[in-house]
Amino acid sequence: MRRPLVAGNWKMHGTRASVAELIEGLRHLQLPGDVEVVVFPSSLHVGQVVAGLESSVIAVGAQDCAVDPMPGALTGEVAASQLLDAGCALVLVGHSERRLILGESDAVVARKFAAAQACGLLPVLCLGETLAQREAGQTLEVVTRQLGGVLEELGIGAFVSAVVAYEPVWAIGTGLTASAQQAQEVHAAIRQQLAAENAEIACGVRILYGGSVKAVNAVELFGMPDIDGGLIGGASLNADEFGAICRAAGN
Ligand code: PEP
Repeated sequence: MRRPLVAGNWKMHGTRASVAELIEGLRHLQLPGDVEVVVFPSSLHVGQVVAGLESSVIAVGAQDCAVDPMPGALTGEVAASQLLDAGCALVLVGHSERRLILGESDAVVARKFAAAQACGLLPVLCLGETLAQREAGQTLEVVTRQLGGVLEELGIGAFVSAVVAYEPVWAIGTGLTASAQQAQEVHAAIRQQLAAENAEIACGVRILYGGSVKAVNAVELFGMPDIDGGLIGGASLNADEFGAICRAAGN
């Protein structure tokens, strides 16, 4: 039985004041006990959020980590070990904004995934196709290649302690959402790819859907057999909306 996970990706948003307000809103939410909840603030705000959510059930993660797990000479980067030290429990790797805007390759993403695990952080591996790739019928090919980048490098054993997030790029921040059937088809293919290596591990991996998830579409998406929760961008910046999405995952 996979425990649903709802994750809020705050991206490059927030000031100390707005983050304080959001923390206050989160602390007052009624959250379902059977759903794991995590927020990913910018690394600048991780300390503030960890302190603000102390004694709450909401975990804190980071949006990225360096390819090297330990601190060192790498200006501007943050090591997974530093994130752990700061109170993070999870880290996103391979978000499409980093793959597409910053040119992160599958090989770099695999190194970040390994760095996270080496430090005891749970990596959330993001996968997804662009609109052009979907229209060209390449969705499964793209997602299979992205997942294969980690699978071939680190093996199926690495997925015992990892989460996968399918986020079609065309649905991120656009208001367009994959239909529940479209999303389920890709989630099932992801699980099948993992199951080809080890069925038991594949069965335990949580696969989140991300892309314009809101309270109104969450119930249908989370009702699909291979969708185990969501990675939420814009809607996670509103505590009440985020809380409603978390409750939808508990239904
Ligand atoms: C995201 O960036 O991970 C995301 C899913 O964003 P949004 O919910 O705003 O589409």
